[in-house]
Amino acid sequence: MKIIRLSVFQKTCPLTKPYSLSGGRLIFKELDTTFVKLETDTGIVGWGEGCPWGHTYLPAHGPGIRAGLETMAPAILGLDPRRTDEVNRAMDLALPGHLYAKSPVDMACWDAFGKSTGLPVVDLLGARYDEPVPIASSISTGTPQEMLALIDGYRATGYRVHSAKVGADVKMDIERIRYLATNEKPGELIFYDVNRAWTVSEAILVMNAVSDLPVVFEQPCETLDQCASVAARTGHPISIDERLETLTDLHRIIADRCGEIVNIKLNRVGGLTRARRLRDVCLAHGIRMLTMDTGGTVLADTAVHHFAQSIPVDYRMGSWLCQEMITFDPAPGQGSRNINGCASAPLLPGLGVDLDELLLGDPVAVYG
Ligand code: MG
Repeated sequence: MKIIRLSVFQKTCPLTKPYSLSGGRLIFKELDTTFVKLETDTGIVGWGEGCPWGHTYLPAHGPGIRAGLETMAPAILGLDPRRTDEVNRAMDLALPGHLYAKSPVDMACWDAFGKSTGLPVVDLLGARYDEPVPIASSISTGTPQEMLALIDGYRATGYRVHSAKVGADVKMDIERIRYLATNEKPGELIFYDVNRAWTVSEAILVMNAVSDLPVVFEQPCETLDQCASVAARTGHPISIDERLETLTDLHRIIADRCGEIVNIKLNRVGGLTRARRLRDVCLAHGIRMLTMDTGGTVLADTAVHHFAQSIPVDYRMGSWLCQEMITFDPAPGQGSRNINGCASAPLLPGLGVDLDELLLGDPVAVYG
């Protein structure tokens, strides 16, 4: 089986409401998502999606994916999409780095691979642990009362895991965390995602001020050095998110004790092939995982749930459905959806999402 054509589609997806994180430092109103249609000489088609969370959150942006695809396309055409390591190697040689531009191609390869075998992608990743994956809400920074009201809204649709965005004024953050932790319901997990906003001293101040609370923090500071410094002087488990891109980063996180949990986002780490490698190292070192993408529609969300269900239940902390925060749906009724606060990978071959091409409009580029 050979890749004969790559078609690229772009959609602007408005958020259902403006979203603020990192203490209000970053505000978002829409996402720029890119779909890749990968056609093969057998007639099998694979689909992938890459959607950075805007252009201010990470060193990634929608136009960057499309520029990367233009550069990499000649190296991808002619390859067998089932040989995912080989496709990734070819992309790395054609364009070092730029993992976020590679993720949609990698995703489309796994989709085509699954369809060629009649198996869902999760099966090809080596395991399917059937229990549905709890999905995490994403709670925009606000007053403690505003944030609890947002959590209540998610509770009404079954959510039991919440990612509350903090990282603004230190005293207000302590108030937010204490208020939300006090109002946590049995069986719930609220983790406090700082998105790199604190300095080391701020992180130590806030985390030690709530040392009596059994709570988890995510990416308190900008760098792994800073997170390791915080981890050494505080008692809460720390999840590393934005500073985990490569297997080398994960080795560093483990060796320097920067955190005990990681958040693996498919677009940031370069897709399912690389995410699987991270998963196996995490399992070997007793590190629990959150599994998400950086953004996107039901297609990206579904790829996440194929990956999430390949992780043993004890090692899963939660995933995310970005689809619930945007107004564009390219595959109504299909793929991974919220069922009482959890989601699962479809049982269909490949990713199990049949995109409605009429909803995507004309391709912005075609290679091959
Ligand atoms: Mg995070």
